[in-house]
Amino acid sequence: MSVTILNPGDCHVFEAGGRRHVYLAPSAAVMAIDDTSAAVLDALAERPQTAADLTDSLAGRFTAAEVAESLEELSRIRAVRTIEAPLKRVPRIVPLTPVPLSTMVLNVTNQCNLSCSYCYEYGEDKIVQTENGSQPKWMSEDTARASVDFMLREAGERASLTFFGGETLLNFKVLTTTVAYAKARAAELGKRVDFSLTTNATLLKPAVIEFLAENDFGVTISIDGPPDVQNKFRVFHNGAGSYDLVAPNIKALLARHRSRPIGARVTLTRETLQVRRIYEHLTNEIGFWEVGFAPVTSSPGRPHAFGDEGFEEVLRQFREMAQDYRDAALAGRHHGFSNVRETLSEIHRGASKAWPCGAGFGLLGVSTSGDVALCHRFAGSDDHKLGTVRDGINRDVQRAFLESHHVANKTDCATCWARPLCAGGCYHEAHTRYGSTERPNLHYCDWIRGWTDTCLSIYAEISQANPDFLRQFDGDDDEAPQAS
Ligand code: SF4
Ligand code: SF4
Repeated sequence: MSVTILNPGDCHVFEAGGRRHVYLAPSAAVMAIDDTSAAVLDALAERPQTAADLTDSLAGRFTAAEVAESLEELSRIRAVRTIEAPLKRVPRIVPLTPVPLSTMVLNVTNQCNLSCSYCYEYGEDKIVQTENGSQPKWMSEDTARASVDFMLREAGERASLTFFGGETLLNFKVLTTTVAYAKARAAELGKRVDFSLTTNATLLKPAVIEFLAENDFGVTISIDGPPDVQNKFRVFHNGAGSYDLVAPNIKALLARHRSRPIGARVTLTRETLQVRRIYEHLTNEIGFWEVGFAPVTSSPGRPHAFGDEGFEEVLRQFREMAQDYRDAALAGRHHGFSNVRETLSEIHRGASKAWPCGAGFGLLGVSTSGDVALCHRFAGSDDHKLGTVRDGINRDVQRAFLESHHVANKTDCATCWARPLCAGGCYHEAHTRYGSTERPNLHYCDWIRGWTDTCLSIYAEISQANPDFLRQFDGDDDEAPQAS
């Protein structure tokens, strides 16, 4: 018998529905494993050891032949490795030809009628400076048309045009003319454009609602919850809360615009950490189809920022809600906790990310002046500019970005089992925390791994007990921008 020392491989073992499973990082595959393989992986997780020691320690429960067979299979799928053989390096593959643009986020204004103190656009963590005069407050019709032309040049057959702000609807006029132009140009070129926007709902007047419904807009509403929660941060410039204005507007939108599900996007802060209460209010009392939560992006030390215990509490509350999602899925019912749906969709598609999101290639943000940046959160930042809608993308800059931000460059991530779904996390978060988009978000690894473990477990349970439920994810593809 060999004296080679064996180690657990590039994988994560988890339990679902009373059975052990393994998530294989190199292939992003989820597999159920038998008792022998589970025992082998458990023993190796406790301490690296030789095959002979392993066989001895498992004797009485499994025969030597069973252990040997299991080791052979686990080595083949790289769930076990020898201690001499380091984890295989993640290959650094960067596309040689430009990736078609799938989502363009148009910042039609950087102005807002609210003054949310946690907002990255206006708060202390603001990265896009407008005082040098390079970024106008409003996108002009001319720049919006040039952006549409740019998008249709860069996209394949289909593209998503997302309007963003500031408060997007403050520039409703440009929104309407841009939609008309995009429809006409896309029809001439035989392409399809899908429209969406993010809004704080303060300006959802009947004419606006009619326009959104008629043009089949995907709508995301930024709202934080019931009155006391919403009014804590989402306030007007005079400090007045916005709940009483937005709640009836949203109900009117939901009543009229029924062709697409409308979602809420909640920013969680240390002071408003009540996931279930917020979810129940937004679904049962307001009527949203689904609700997604995002912990606030903030540099540490801000009063609303999460510390380590905060992330633990977010995870605990998310896990509770995730069990509700699982129960609903097993019974074939809808549940609107979109954080679970999004992660299940990625697991189902076998997502294996070299970059955390599509920012910089499949997804681009356009500033009010027409500068093209990594995503909407960087739109207008000279340091994160990839080109302009009129001159196109600087391919050398784009390629350098993709090379320097590849997960293979992030030492901790390159050996982390959660990398297929995380790949280091949001560039904007990294920039806010560490001052560099190249840094992985190591402050939330426990949270990411804990959440991924929960969703893997739910995925495996659903795939055993109600696999039909997962069919809804078969057609999912592109990366959608996070709204805020
Ligand atoms: S940021 Fe942390 S959790 Fe995410 S891939 Fe890197 S090491 Fe893993
Ligand atoms: S995850 Fe971060 S970097 Fe990526 S698109 Fe969203 S905000 Fe931008």
